[in-house]
Amino acid sequence: MSSRTPVMAGNWKMNKDHLEAIQLVQKLAYHLDEADWAGQDVVVCPPSVALRSIQTLIDSDHLPLELGAQNCHWEDAGAFTGEISAGMLARLDVTWVICGHSERRALFGETDEVVNRKATAVLRSGMRPILCVGETLDQRQAGAAESVVTGQLRASLAGVTVPSPEQLVVAYEPVWAIGTGKTATADDAQAMCAHVRSELAEIFTPDAASAMRVLYGGSVKPGNIRELMAQQDIDGALVGGASLNSDDFALIVGHRR
Ligand code: PEP
Repeated sequence: MSSRTPVMAGNWKMNKDHLEAIQLVQKLAYHLDEADWAGQDVVVCPPSVALRSIQTLIDSDHLPLELGAQNCHWEDAGAFTGEISAGMLARLDVTWVICGHSERRALFGETDEVVNRKATAVLRSGMRPILCVGETLDQRQAGAAESVVTGQLRASLAGVTVPSPEQLVVAYEPVWAIGTGKTATADDAQAMCAHVRSELAEIFTPDAASAMRVLYGGSVKPGNIRELMAQQDIDGALVGGASLNSDDFALIVGHRR
């Protein structure tokens, strides 16, 4: 069994206003006990308008929950209408930021170079990037899954310095499995997460790579989390749809029961 601390992260995408967000976190906390929280990082990534409300709730109720953002800008400040800097997020006690989610790549034109700048800004502000990589169905069918992921990792991490290996988390998220109900088989997910780790060993060092967390994401549900978490190179999950339901996300977080 690996000594890496698992990460269970919920990506709410553009769902839940700040009042609904508070309710969701309250319900989640109600469902989880001390043993569920222990020994793993549990993260929620609400829309940015709800970050302050959730931060206040975490503080007032002393919840062992960590706060994540879904995106940020790479500059510290300036004329970037509509954007939020990594430093602003860090001031809100945000400790994780999703970088390069496939929806941002596909819908908002984010390139690996942009993802690289964002991950750098996140690390510079003392937070942890959850760097998303993954192939489309066409790329998988063409036998290019590994090379696509290699290219994304190498370009997104070129020149990136990580203060400690625990600070960088990579989420392998095959695009064809996101929000589709189609999960990669545990064997395929393991093979790709092992591939991610071997690339991290090349980009950084083998020691650093063995301490970095690699998550799987793509239609993770209460029914498949145990099998995924039993895989050697899968250190947690980035969960979309199922994280919007407190019962389901509590079952995913509490999968060791
Ligand atoms: C995601 O958006 O990162 C994701 C994995 O979504 P879902 O769990 O809904 O497939």
